[in-house]
Amino acid sequence: MSEYIKRNRHRVIIMGLLLISIAVWSAVFRMPDGSLHIKVFDVGQGDSIFIRTPAGYKILIDGGSNDKVLDYLGKQLPFFDKTLDLVVLTHPQSDHLAGLIEVAKRYEIKRLWVSYSENDTAQYSEWENVLGTQGLEGRVVWSGDQLIFSDNVVLQVQWPREESASDDLNTTSIVILIDYKDFEGLLTGDADNQVQPYTELTSEVEFLKVPHHGAKTALDKAFTSKLSPEISVISVGSRNRYGHPAQNTIDLLKSLGSELHRTDEDGTVEIVTDGSSWYTKIER
Ligand SMILES: [Zn+2]
Repeated sequence: MSEYIKRNRHRVIIMGLLLISIAVWSAVFRMPDGSLHIKVFDVGQGDSIFIRTPAGYKILIDGGSNDKVLDYLGKQLPFFDKTLDLVVLTHPQSDHLAGLIEVAKRYEIKRLWVSYSENDTAQYSEWENVLGTQGLEGRVVWSGDQLIFSDNVVLQVQWPREESASDDLNTTSIVILIDYKDFEGLLTGDADNQVQPYTELTSEVEFLKVPHHGAKTALDKAFTSKLSPEISVISVGSRNRYGHPAQNTIDLLKSLGSELHRTDEDGTVEIVTDGSSWYTKIER
């Protein structure tokens, strides 16, 4: 064997080892770390929230209005991991649905929760087609349904109620209380003050995903005061045409002393908790 070939072979082996070690380390950094992570992705005008439980279960709530979610998911998961344990479509409007269509094409979704509502759009038909192609069927969930993970993270559906029926898609949003030890968070889709209180919830929550991108009608004052969220996150696009978030909504949350973040200013917002204390990380 010539010296030239030998040297090149060494180089190839070293490069190969380097790539393997990069892949292993990037996977290690994404391993479960015993904490609950909630990431409100900066997807522009829309919602997409990724949750990794302490044992590493992966939950995606909504997909935003474009395919940005694919990049974010790619960064959360090692390249070989294309599974999600639970995906929730809170309601079938474009700013929550569009990204999920792309996710459903590329990821194995083990469980899918959907609201009872449907939408009369070409995009919604595409969603139904993709689900059909993937052999995936959404389960319509109602208040009272729940999912308990082996690491004691509990998702409780708070809304809609079985007797509810509405033409306003926002009010058909699935609302979920996520509970881990002493930490509780309320994930609200676009379910605004028309349907609050969603629930007999009487306890305070640590985290509130502010409904409907912080719209003027996002929050019922009495309900929000009862929740008294320690941290609130508004998922909203910069310079959006709806004027979200509204000043009255911001003022209400500030008057309650809530630590307020918004994705148009802070980028992706992450809440990390061990079930007793929590902290936030913002992208910018
Ligand atoms: Zn929305």
